[in-house]
Amino acid sequence: MAGEALIELRGVNKHYGKLHVLQDIDLTVGRGEVVVVIGPSGGGKSTLCRAINRLETIESGTITLDGRPLPEEGRALAQLRAEVGMVFQSFNLFAHRTVLDNIMLAPVKVRKKRKDEAARRARELLDRVGLVSQAEKFPAQLSGGQQQRVAIARALAMDPKALLFDEPTSALDPEMINEVLEVMRQLAREGMTMVVVTHEMGFARSAANRVVFMADGRIVEDRTPEEFFTAPRSERAKDFLSKIL
Ligand code: ADP
Ligand code: MG
Repeated sequence: MAGEALIELRGVNKHYGKLHVLQDIDLTVGRGEVVVVIGPSGGGKSTLCRAINRLETIESGTITLDGRPLPEEGRALAQLRAEVGMVFQSFNLFAHRTVLDNIMLAPVKVRKKRKDEAARRARELLDRVGLVSQAEKFPAQLSGGQQQRVAIARALAMDPKALLFDEPTSALDPEMINEVLEVMRQLAREGMTMVVVTHEMGFARSAANRVVFMADGRIVEDRTPEEFFTAPRSERAKDFLSKIL
């Protein structure tokens, strides 16, 4: 594991009615580590991500970020959301704002950054994701892959300690998947702490420090990509891999 724990879940449980969607989840994500979460649909992967960002409450257990428990509400919660960026399958950009405004909005509103400073930083981030020429466009004028790269730049604009990705390429046409994965690979190389839910096994093999296999609300395996892909231990994982590889 790279460095000390940045995100730590201990004995986390959650139900949706009778459905035990997170069952005694223990997970540690080290600083600078890339953890890829895979598993069958309905297994609880999105709920796990949302719990880490406190978009979902949990019933028992603890989640800590940088050694501190997640805040319950108010300013501290807004601060947490700024510290852990989230990138969704459905880019969630503001349709009536330009690309540049999408990236500047939170730094100006939440961080009280000066507009000129936020704009300068937004252009820098757009350059990093290869979209500086698109700054004045509106999201609908961009391809899906470009929109997702804007969403990543927007998350980075808050200088997050970690980024959560929930199936960031699942809504994209095949030819656009790689441009998004390449930006994510670059972030990984730069040492960003990342939790990535994805079905892109090539990304998991090449970029992940660990693969977490989740099914039916449990973490079934938590191992290196080499170990997981060459010799999965559980029948559940073997079955899953046989269907997708
Ligand atoms: P995954 O991301 O692995 O596909 P999810 O975390 O989205 O899994 O969902 C896990 C289970 O919880 C699924 O059975 C899903 O239908 C259920 N679920 C997710 N969100 C809700 C909700 N808000 N209310 C009730 N059930 C939900
Ligand atoms: Mg999901």
